Amino acid sequence: MNDSVDLHLHSTHSDGVLSPAALVELLVANGVRQFALTDHDTVAGLGEVARCAQGAGLHCITGTELSASWLGRTIHVVGLGFDPDCAPIATAVDTRLALRRERARTIAARLDRAGAPGSAALERLAGTAVPTRTHFARALAELGAARDAAHAFDRWLGHGKPGHVPSEWPALEETVAAIVAGGGTAVLAHPLRYRLSAGQRRTLVRVFAAAGGGALEVVTGGVAPHQIETALGLALRGGLAGSVGSDCHDPALPWHRPGRLAKLPAAVVPVWDRWAAAPTRALEA
Ligand code: AMP
Ligand code: MN
Ligand code: MN
Ligand code: MN
Repeated sequence: MNDSVDLHLHSTHSDGVLSPAALVELLVANGVRQFALTDHDTVAGLGEVARCAQGAGLHCITGTELSASWLGRTIHVVGLGFDPDCAPIATAVDTRLALRRERARTIAARLDRAGAPGSAALERLAGTAVPTRTHFARALAELGAARDAAHAFDRWLGHGKPGHVPSEWPALEETVAAIVAGGGTAVLAHPLRYRLSAGQRRTLVRVFAAAGGGALEVVTGGVAPHQIETALGLALRGGLAGSVGSDCHDPALPWHRPGRLAKLPAAVVPVWDRWAAAPTRALEA
């Protein structure tokens, strides 16, 4: 069953390259049977993806990936199985979209000052519902300011670069609480990707669990076996269930391909088993 679950996926509703329909086709081709679309700070794609999933016979869980702040870092919290129409999630999303729109203007201005075509990039983002740095990276590459999107992060948008605007997202604890209030499970996404010491990471997991967090991504796209062991230790120590998600934004990137991840270690309770014990909300199309 492990192979067939992917609870962290992006579409064109945030910074992924596939539409929900194309994503569902990819999931079917790769043998994924149960999934959640977890676009950044939005639930806009959930109705569409649920309809596609139903047509394809896949089990679709509601999802989103909320940006949160803790210790001055941006932490990503995946929400799963919440009521997509509930007020806590709507408020969480609206708050972050307003912050993102404001941040996009700041990023553009800073890029302009640094000699990059920030305003021109911002114009290209005009039709984007959830403006992310990924959109800036693609626009900067198209405008000739970088070889490709990855180079745009290295040169302009990554940590310590001119277009890196430290974000003040809602607090981690508040983010977890919103997901729980919406009837969902909060999952600490890609726990090894944050700029934290090992001790800070353990504190993060403790704070996350104390705030009501339910699971940690033990298997996520791009991790090595020893990293899975480290993440497993964090989940067990925090009393959290384990989740699995490719974090696929683009099927061309081999380390994030859905249906090709390592198995969730047997030592941790799978988050989907907890739902089986207390059924969570699946989206009805
Ligand atoms: P944002 O939430 O707007 O700060 O954008 C973060 C997104 O940018 C992440 O979800 C990744 O998809 C992408 N990203 C972050 N760092 C990099 C990087 N170094 N190279 C490529 N994409 C990145
Ligand atoms: Mn992303
Ligand atoms: Mn993330
Ligand atoms: Mn993600």
